[in-house]
Amino acid sequence: MPSKVYFPTLIYTATLRERRGDLNGRLLAEIQQMRHDDAAGRRWSSKNYPGGYTSYNSSHRLHLMSPTFADLERVLNRHVGRFADELELDLSGRALSMTDCWANVMPRHVMHGLHLHPLSTISGTYYVQTPRGCPGLKFEDPRLDRYMAAPPRKADAGPEHRPWVVVPAEAGTLILFESWLRHEVAPNPMKSERISVSFNYNWF
Ligand code: FE
Repeated sequence: MPSKVYFPTLIYTATLRERRGDLNGRLLAEIQQMRHDDAAGRRWSSKNYPGGYTSYNSSHRLHLMSPTFADLERVLNRHVGRFADELELDLSGRALSMTDCWANVMPRHVMHGLHLHPLSTISGTYYVQTPRGCPGLKFEDPRLDRYMAAPPRKADAGPEHRPWVVVPAEAGTLILFESWLRHEVAPNPMKSERISVSFNYNWF
């Protein structure tokens, strides 16, 4: 092929072996309990995450508050390290470490609009409960605003040439991306709740 790829956008996915231990079950139980106890979070969610619950504004350092989330952090650290290697980031002199970790519960019809994760280096989500048919994580080509009069892509274009991609959400799996990459979650059409843990890593 005469062309080469430059400026790639990497999205990392992996299934955690630890799923076989009961990490998922413990996360699920703690998230349900937290949602019950966290009145401030429920209030904030009713305004900013209608129909759903997120601890984003009330308990956003769960890895420092709960041994279960600290266990998740330990597992995630390995994957984030591997992703940083793939990105060929030079992290010498400072540590890339988890700064925020919060839970998200999306009942039926709840969605999460386009956003990015400012003040962070690498972000991601670990899926705890994903009813069959629930939405994945939709990423947008970061160059969309430069396309102007560009022709559309072929309907059967390869995933690397499409203007957006949906990475499936599956319990026990995680998705990592660079924090500047815009993404969203479409409304959950399923009766069961879609439950996830999101996190940011920053380079201090
Ligand atoms: Fe996000």
